[in-house]
Amino acid sequence: MDKARIGVVGLGTMGSALALNMAEKGFDVAVTNRSADRLPVFLEKAGPLAPRLVTAKTPEDLVAALDTPRIVLLMVPAGAAVDDQIALYRPLLGKGDVIVDAGNADFHDTRRRAEDLGAAGLHFLGLGVSGGEEGARHGPSMMAGGTQAAWAAVSDILQAIAATFRGQPCAAHLGPDGAGHFVKTVHNGIEYADMQLIAEIYGLFRADGRAPAAIGEVFEAWNQGPLMAYLTEISAKVLQATDPETGQPMVDVIADRAGQKGTGRWTVIEAQKLGQPATTTEAAVAARAWSAAAAAREAGKGLFPPPDKLHGPIPTEGDLEKALLAGRVLALSQGFALLAAASEEYDWSLDLAATAEVWRAGCIIRSGLLDDITQAFRVGVPHGLLQFAPHFVAILAETTPALRRTVAAAAVAGVPIPALSAALASYDTMRTARGTTNLIQAQRDFFGAHGFERVDAKGAHHGPWGG
Ligand code: NDP
Repeated sequence: MDKARIGVVGLGTMGSALALNMAEKGFDVAVTNRSADRLPVFLEKAGPLAPRLVTAKTPEDLVAALDTPRIVLLMVPAGAAVDDQIALYRPLLGKGDVIVDAGNADFHDTRRRAEDLGAAGLHFLGLGVSGGEEGARHGPSMMAGGTQAAWAAVSDILQAIAATFRGQPCAAHLGPDGAGHFVKTVHNGIEYADMQLIAEIYGLFRADGRAPAAIGEVFEAWNQGPLMAYLTEISAKVLQATDPETGQPMVDVIADRAGQKGTGRWTVIEAQKLGQPATTTEAAVAARAWSAAAAAREAGKGLFPPPDKLHGPIPTEGDLEKALLAGRVLALSQGFALLAAASEEYDWSLDLAATAEVWRAGCIIRSGLLDDITQAFRVGVPHGLLQFAPHFVAILAETTPALRRTVAAAAVAGVPIPALSAALASYDTMRTARGTTNLIQAQRDFFGAHGFERVDAKGAHHGPWGG
């Protein structure tokens, strides 16, 4: 074969799927991997695509196999592994060549790397990729951040391998340096929130004695309506799956302890730094952290009796459907507000409509809502809050009474629902013009003489606390 258009470094789950996707779309791809024994296994797996693939045992071999400008796409774990790979490839590449980091990087690292490599005449693209292995193999959603030149060098490849929504590729250049990785981080933060909302609804059904398979059937039906989403669809499937070893529902043999790799936590940290309330994601991250405290929860079960059963029943199926929809809208609204705040802080000029567009297919949070979100941002969203856009005002008017009944019933029944509760609190807060932080200001002034603004006069004032 002629020289390859692109080199893929890291043939793990995602890298090998992306390389095969590129080969299938007609690009010649050079590949390498830290452990060379993966190379023949990969070629074997490639089957009829093998003629479009060339394996390289060393960085020098990989670079020698590439056409110019040479494009090296890294698909290795975030952090030191990316810096190590950049250090290996940097001396082998020249002006105008491109390094793409397609892993889930911390966007602060991406900004630093873009600056360093830019100073050396190299282009750097921080590429968020979503869709898991299946997406990477057959059409992921991709969020790019970097220079226009870096995007121009790889955009034909990325758009060819991306998922499509009504014929439009779900891959876009969203801004400079860390913009793509930040958008991917917030995507994952919204994903955490949505997964937690779904899990809480499942928990309410379980508290009402519903079996997993029956709950799965409800999710399956919901996936035909306004709750249509990849996460609704897969939840329906996993709830209906049976453990081949015990014959039990699969979810019943899975430990109640959730893992996390960091993007949810990063979302919350960045939201805090930017003064943005991402409370549904915070609740989801906290729920995973609490899940790790299994022994303490077991002890708590013995210490505190459950609420008595005299209170009303678990909400109806119809209420739970609407509560989940309201929660999903509010989680998305928080996510987009966070993106807008970061865009302002880092001067990215993020196009939020384009961001929603690339999430319409291929990614984990794809749902029937994202096309409407795209339209809402095209027209403009009052106060930067998606929930204030007329289409979503109407959805929330229809669904929040059910969310309210659900949160109330869960509280009475003693079923923890941190994300649904956070969603309702954010909704109620943003429809309350005068809240209670006047008292916070009075307290701050009392103990720290911090001063406060008056409703009837400008400037800093103090209260008569000293007597
Ligand atoms: P895997 O664990 O499947 O593969 C990791 C790859 O990186 C392997 O090829 C491994 O090589 C290589 N690698 C690991 N450590 C180093 C190192 N220190 N130096 C060089 N190479 C190294 O991971 P994934 O493919 O799942 O993930 C890759 C990236 O993609 C991560 O940033 C992840 O967060 C991101 N991502 C993952 C998604 C998923 O659903 N899995 C979805 C979206 C993004 P070796 O064979 O030698 O171990």
